[in-house]
Amino acid sequence: SEPPATMLDAFRATVARVPDRAALHYFDATVSYRELDALTDGFAARLIRDGFRPGDRLALITQNTPHFPVALYGAWKAGGIVVPVNPMYKQRELAHILQDAEVAALVCHERAWHGFVRDTVAGSPVRHAYTGSELDLQTRDDPRVLRDVVRHPADDAADLLTAARSPEGPPPPDPGLGAADTALISYTSGTSGTPKGALNTHGNIAYNAHRQQRTHQLADGAVVFALAPLFHITGMVCELSAAFAAGSPVALAYRFEPGVVIDAFREHRPAYTVGPSTAFMALMTVPGASAADFASFEVISSGGAPLPPAVVEQFHDRFGQYLRNGYGLTECTAPCAAVPPGLRAPVDPVSGTLAVGVPGPDTMIRILDDAGQEVPFGEPGEIAVGGPMVVPGYWRRPDATAAALPGGELRTGDIGFMDSSGWLYVVDRKKDMINASGFKVWPREVEDVLYTHPAVREAAVVGVPDAYRGESVKAYVSLKPGAGAAAEELIAYCRERLAAFKYPRAVEILAELPKTTSGKILRRELRDAAVAAAPAPDGAP
Ligand code: ATP
Repeated sequence: SEPPATMLDAFRATVARVPDRAALHYFDATVSYRELDALTDGFAARLIRDGFRPGDRLALITQNTPHFPVALYGAWKAGGIVVPVNPMYKQRELAHILQDAEVAALVCHERAWHGFVRDTVAGSPVRHAYTGSELDLQTRDDPRVLRDVVRHPADDAADLLTAARSPEGPPPPDPGLGAADTALISYTSGTSGTPKGALNTHGNIAYNAHRQQRTHQLADGAVVFALAPLFHITGMVCELSAAFAAGSPVALAYRFEPGVVIDAFREHRPAYTVGPSTAFMALMTVPGASAADFASFEVISSGGAPLPPAVVEQFHDRFGQYLRNGYGLTECTAPCAAVPPGLRAPVDPVSGTLAVGVPGPDTMIRILDDAGQEVPFGEPGEIAVGGPMVVPGYWRRPDATAAALPGGELRTGDIGFMDSSGWLYVVDRKKDMINASGFKVWPREVEDVLYTHPAVREAAVVGVPDAYRGESVKAYVSLKPGAGAAAEELIAYCRERLAAFKYPRAVEILAELPKTTSGKILRRELRDAAVAAAPAPDGAP
């Protein structure tokens, strides 16, 4: 079947096909597809009445609650562009996005509104704000979900779900969106510096959501669990939109809390989920979690962050499920390569790296040298991606667009190689390479070794300035609950398994490694800390 032109087309087809099926489960509350259609119509009508115009931007700042899909599809029905924002962002980061994207309307949780959001909105381009209590929907059949219509332009907020449930006037007219229209401005997650807004089109999203659904071939009505945050492209496309295209219910659980997630698995019996590898590492630490809790799964995908082979093995031993690797970026509207159903990703015998998958249909992946020429199979170079899921550019950044998307092909900034059977391997981010005594060290390879140590829960490897070597290798690790290991032991363990220039000269054990809300370990933050702690060079104060 052909991909739909937009997710609104796909959503409408699903509403017509299975109106009474659950679209959302949120703790005890359920919203059917028919109801979600009415809610999104109601919110679109409200936005339009409040002066929101096609092409206007709406910032969406929520955890995984029903407000997210109501606001997302509601804004699209009003012809708007949605700017998903990480709710962990602080005032300065939010203010930057509101200005940069010239945001006209904003949706957030009540608590955040009464926190700093209201102050941030003052003096920003935002004209209308809508909030919702994240707790309202936790009570089964509670009519309070419908309460309190209050609207306060600019300096106060209207209740989103109330507004959506009590529309005044007719449903909104069809905005007439097409595949080339911008659906999202996705600010990249910020593991590498100042966020810039990738322009995901309706065609990008509809294509990847449709392909996801076709690839996994889940049973009709199979439940999808939203493990990845919906404000990140992986959750928005692979979970929410793929489910809506397939007519699947989506189970939401506010935010990633390992024990709560296992409880939700027991209650909703999901067949599919996708999350970053760090989420799966955390699920393995939940006391009492067992293979029975995972028995309903047909496919579990890991994507958006490196997946150590040792974690795949440990997860399989513990829960009887295979973690299916997938590679993607915000600029590819989530995945562009994945492990096909029925196959297992090979491990490269030299580096020990697990393959991320094979390029998806209609996806062109090339490995380029510094001059932009393709390299032979097996040789590393920068991964470049072309295809219907690649964004046309960044919001108001022609310089960044020209640099990252020459001729429409995305230069990912990741180093990888392709083997002769077409498996793609991601070596590491180009900018994270460590230069130790003139030798290239890729942090990933060292991390993969650390993950094979039975006591290691999380690992991150960075380069720190070193008077003799230029840079030297330092590892940060957190340990599994109840496990013990000294830094010296971990250094010796790596020394036995890695060349002399690669093994970490220092290991620091932390209770928890810093991560983005989308679950990626923040190497940059650790590197900054390591650099700050390094002894000053001779002569410096
Ligand atoms: P920023 O662009 O601000 O640094 P980010 O790169 O984390 O943020 P995303 O688009 O969320 O933004 O992440 C994409 C990156 O995640 C890829 O470029 C790659 O480095 C990494 N990645 C994604 N999937 C995998 C995978 N399966 N294995 C290894 N790395 C992966």
